[in-house]
Amino acid sequence: MKKLLPTSTAGSLPKPSWLAQPEQLWSPWKLQGDELVDGKKDALRLCLDDQQQAGIDIVSDGEQTRQHFVTTFIEHLDGVDFEKREIVKIRDRYEASVPTVFGDVARRKPVFVEDAKFLRQQTKQPIKWALPGPMTMIDTLYDGHYKSREKLAWEFAKILNQEAKELEAAGVDIIQFDEPAFNVFFDEVNDWGIATLERAIEGLQCETAVHICYGYGIKANTDWKKTLGSEWRQYEEIFPKLQKSNIDIVSLECQNSHVPMELIELIRGKKVMVGAIDVATNNIETPEEVAATLRKALQFVDADKLYPCTNCGMIPLPRHVARGKLNALSAGAEIVRKELLAK
Ligand code: ZN
Repeated sequence: MKKLLPTSTAGSLPKPSWLAQPEQLWSPWKLQGDELVDGKKDALRLCLDDQQQAGIDIVSDGEQTRQHFVTTFIEHLDGVDFEKREIVKIRDRYEASVPTVFGDVARRKPVFVEDAKFLRQQTKQPIKWALPGPMTMIDTLYDGHYKSREKLAWEFAKILNQEAKELEAAGVDIIQFDEPAFNVFFDEVNDWGIATLERAIEGLQCETAVHICYGYGIKANTDWKKTLGSEWRQYEEIFPKLQKSNIDIVSLECQNSHVPMELIELIRGKKVMVGAIDVATNNIETPEEVAATLRKALQFVDADKLYPCTNCGMIPLPRHVARGKLNALSAGAEIVRKELLAK
């Protein structure tokens, strides 16, 4: 990006109420068949328009075509039974009924490639596409086949690499892997988590990102955050290895979080998507609050590598709140951009 402090969002944005129940994760579709196909496209265009109206520089589909950032991708794969469900503990934090891996996993056909082509047709701006990361995928499933988290993660990494290469060919500029699980399973991240992520980006020419957050603003996550104490040092466990990895961009939660900003120093050299919008509150940040977070981050990341962003996806928020937050992000980034250019 030539523009200083290019803005983007971490992932999902709210869907229109005619497509799915607002403010809800895994919200079922309200349309069916061809109407659903058209409805998803219309929602994608509206969501793109919201980002453009707000002046967001790197735009996305806002995940309008998926019910959930992990399971929708998995639904399209062989080897996973969505009818046979087991209760597992997700992120070591909350119980959920999840699908079962019963055989070899495989991707018979592209999952999001047509959606990405559609987004590409709508805009000349840089586009970012989010995929779930291998570790977060295995953490959202019951494995009755491989019986090894690591083995299954390597299989998913191969599949993600196939999808990522086709997304790149469809004109995606940045491919992002969502790895909230990186904030929980530090030993596994260092043993094989980052290695499987590197397998997922193997051979890509486009830019790559990893998004590591403290989750959506749902109760299980906000309750968990209350147990983490006054300083959240989770990133410290994995940043040294991440700094040495081939990933270009690291997307982080910084606004209203208790992550000490100086931890960003540990990934010096990487581009950093600094979360300057809190997705766990309906309060809309002022541009000045956004600017203050970006200024703090600038002590630890070079200006040409700082990408203002949201803490996480905004799907659980009301649409008008999400729009307000996009505007605040844009306006806050502009304040700091002007300061930097005046120097
Ligand atoms: Zn997130």
